Amino acid sequence: MADVFSIARTVLPIRGETDTFPVRRIYCVGRNYADHAVEMGHNPQREPPFFFSKPADAIVADGASIAYPRATQDLHHEIELVVAIGVGGADIAADDALNHVFGYTVGIDLTRRDIQAEAKKLARPWDLAKGFDQSAPMLALRRASEIGHPVSGRIWLAVNREQRQQGDLAQQIWTVPETIAFLSRFVRLEPGDLIMTGTPAGVGAIEIGDSVTGGIDGVGEISVRFLPPG
Ligand code: MN
Repeated sequence: MADVFSIARTVLPIRGETDTFPVRRIYCVGRNYADHAVEMGHNPQREPPFFFSKPADAIVADGASIAYPRATQDLHHEIELVVAIGVGGADIAADDALNHVFGYTVGIDLTRRDIQAEAKKLARPWDLAKGFDQSAPMLALRRASEIGHPVSGRIWLAVNREQRQQGDLAQQIWTVPETIAFLSRFVRLEPGDLIMTGTPAGVGAIEIGDSVTGGIDGVGEISVRFLPPG
C-alpha cells in the first residue's frame, strides 16, 4: 500500500510539452446534447445545466488497460469534450469565460448505469455511479493558444471499431462559455479544474475485452481497453 506521504497528485500531460497540468477538481455537465437527453428519457428543453463531479484521481491515461469496475453489470461509455481551467474566478461572465480556459481534451465519462438508474429511482446521489475508480479516461491536454476554442466538429466513439456515438459540438445545449458562467455562480473555479461538457447520443454498454476509441475533430483521439475485474 502506498505510504500516505508518497501519494502522487493527479496531473494531465500537455501534448508536446514536458510541463504537466495539475488537476484540482472534475466537474461534469449532465444532459448537454438534446439527442442524449431524449435517449435517457428526458425532455431536451433548455433547462438550466446541472452538475456532478468525479474525483481528480479517477483520471486514467490514454492507452490504458482498465480493469472492468466492481459492483456493476452495466458500464457505459460517454465521450465528452473536456475544458481545462487556467485562470480562476467566481461569477464569470459568459463573454469573459474563454479568458479562463487553459485548453481542451477528450474524456470518457464512464458510468455505472445500473447504479445510476437505482439512484434516480430512489432520488439518491449519483456519486458512486459516476465517481468511481478509473472512471475518467482522458487524453493529453491541448492548449487553447494552439488549437483555439472548438465550437463545432465531430465528436464520436467506437467500441471494437464499431461506431456507437456520433454528434457535433455545435449540438451542445449549453456552450462552453455558458457552462463556465453558470457553474462559477455556484463554486469558485480555480486553475486545475476540469469540466466534462456532456455526451451526444449513442451511449451503451462496455464488455470485458472491449477496445474503446473516441475523438473530437481538432482535439484528438483517445483509446482504452477493458480487462477482467482486477
Ligand atoms: Mn456524461
